[in-house]
Amino acid sequence: MRNQPVSIPALALEWVAAQELYQFAQQLVQTPSPSSQEGAVARLIADQMKALKFPNVYINDMGSVIATLGNGNGPMLLYDAHMDTVDPGTPDRWLHPPYAGVIDNNILYGLGTTDMKGALASMIYGARQLLPYQNRINGTLVLAFVVQQEPCEGLAIRVLVEQDGFQPDYVLLGAPTNLQISRGQRGRVMFKISVEGKASHGSQPELGQNAIYAAARLVFSVQLLADDLPKDPFLGPGTIAVTGIGSRGLSLNAIPDLCKVFVDRRLTLGETVGSAQAQIESLIRREDIPATVEITTYSDPSYTGVVHTASEAHPAWVLDRGHPLVTTLSQVIQTVSGSVPGVGHWPFSTDGVYTMGQANIPTVGFGPGNPDLVHTCEEHIGLDDLKTAAHVYAGLAAAMLME
Ligand SMILES: [Zn+2]
Repeated sequence: MRNQPVSIPALALEWVAAQELYQFAQQLVQTPSPSSQEGAVARLIADQMKALKFPNVYINDMGSVIATLGNGNGPMLLYDAHMDTVDPGTPDRWLHPPYAGVIDNNILYGLGTTDMKGALASMIYGARQLLPYQNRINGTLVLAFVVQQEPCEGLAIRVLVEQDGFQPDYVLLGAPTNLQISRGQRGRVMFKISVEGKASHGSQPELGQNAIYAAARLVFSVQLLADDLPKDPFLGPGTIAVTGIGSRGLSLNAIPDLCKVFVDRRLTLGETVGSAQAQIESLIRREDIPATVEITTYSDPSYTGVVHTASEAHPAWVLDRGHPLVTTLSQVIQTVSGSVPGVGHWPFSTDGVYTMGQANIPTVGFGPGNPDLVHTCEEHIGLDDLKTAAHVYAGLAAAMLME
């Protein structure tokens, strides 16, 4: 890798396929791919890459689409984008229908445009620019388009590394950054707290112990805890929020003997999954609440029927500002767009929780689209941004892997 200013080989800036890129991004939006139902979009992606003459394209047993380029004699750079989307919610709240793929005034509207089918299309068309020069790629460029990222970030990419045997030296995530650089994010844990009570008839509450009342004390304490969480100067504060509650009773005429409280905890740098759990456990002891805490797990089968179980506990991560992956990406963006990109962090969670947070692989983020539009019915993306992103994806691979 170069540490001096990069001159991207001219090949990365030749551009012949912008209209094809836009059409393909539109087709991706028009092909619904809720989490665990990505089969149709995976086949579309694999077929398109084969038609574009990518040499090695396949779908792994979990259902992720993978393509590799290069001679393997050098570092491995992996580009990661997820194929799944969240639920569109109420379709009539969308300006344009979520799966219509309407293009208006150089903007593509719809579910997944920023999160993250736009980036996915740009990665394909960026890498395509390198196809005629494959013998000059000293190393490997991997395109990994993964399943089930929305419900369980880090899971499908972990399978690629730990089961399929990919050992990337660098990872780039295409989650939206508005064409700026992201070099980290807070972590995330989902706690399920089970508060125990004792059932009795609703007419004789004094004979039971109302699990909802105990849970209410817990909820209040969690709210107070929110003010005291540590802050990191770069990632900001840790946060905590009660996001779900449900009780069990024999009927609405009975005192409930169980109340479950779900807590979304975001971890800033310096906090760990263990320290966050210990904090809740000590609060439960202090308030003398009969409750147990556990971390939730994810185990939905993928669309191919494969089950991988993952704990919903993901560490915070930050890549050094001066890491060559950040500086090289910054130079490439500057060369492509003419302006110096900002370097920040994502507000949400990404596959970096595994690649950098657990596997310690240097990971950086760059994607088209406004991160504030993610999971909203206003999702859209500028076509020009798709083209810029494709150039940057081509340029970064060229800068890192080619002479
Ligand atoms: Zn998302």
